Amino acid sequence: MTRILITGSKGRMGKALLACAPLHPEVEVAAQIDIGDDLLAAIDRCDVVVDFSAHQATVALAALCARHHKAMVIGTTGHAPEERTAIVHHAHAVPLVMASNFSTGVNTLFWLTRKAAEILGPDFDVEIVEMHHRFKKDAPSGTAMALAEVLAKVREMPLEEAARYGREGIVGERTPEEIGVHSVRGGDVVGDHTVMFATLGERLELTHKASSRETFAHGALRAAAWVVKQKPGLYSMMEVLGLK
Ligand code: NAD
Repeated sequence: MTRILITGSKGRMGKALLACAPLHPEVEVAAQIDIGDDLLAAIDRCDVVVDFSAHQATVALAALCARHHKAMVIGTTGHAPEERTAIVHHAHAVPLVMASNFSTGVNTLFWLTRKAAEILGPDFDVEIVEMHHRFKKDAPSGTAMALAEVLAKVREMPLEEAARYGREGIVGERTPEEIGVHSVRGGDVVGDHTVMFATLGERLELTHKASSRETFAHGALRAAAWVVKQKPGLYSMMEVLGLK
């Protein structure tokens, strides 16, 4: 039985994790922490920390997990590059699963996006559109950025050069190198992502729509049971699912 500690337990994802955990006989919720709770007092009760708190909180949390030899499942998104570097540094000490999206469908979308980009080639313009609920704090979504990374890798281009975030004004004609990324916010949308491949005469769209946060929670709980059996290192959800 894998003992988990949930950080961000009073949030939307924290509540989904608590609701789904009883359906996973391989895990047991040993502790739950939100702002103001004593994390230090609880950390040694668990084998793995499942973090769905906030991007800035994950940095200190990863350092604590490394000191206490605890594996980690990191669900927070929107890390600044220096935050990500600081988090990933601890992968030399403990196993970490870090994923912008824990759903099986989205990880299949990552795989399909890579395949489609390889097959269709540079003559197809690529654009990503994501939509999330009005409360989401970061944009673009971590999943949209991960999809953009997949496309940039296939095209052998640094994403920083290729990414075009929204368009406004006289921006000129689209160049073939661009990877468009567009964020829409509103209502209670759990998470929609579309990758468009458009050329003259045809367009292919790959779309994933999450209708419940429980899909992310089930994936994160599956990752928690998996990560405790791994050596120190940085792992993705695609590795948990055997897609890589
Ligand atoms: P939320 O705002 O509803 O919940 C976050 C919770 O974390 C809050 O209860 C807050 O009080 C708590 N928190 C903040 N700082 C903390 C700290 N230092 N220690 C303990 N608790 C702390 O947000 P949410 O919608 O549940 O999303 C949480 C994070 O998960 C976001 O980064 C979001 O983008 C990400 N997310 C990831 C996935 C995925 O599959 N990877 C899916 C959904 C959301």
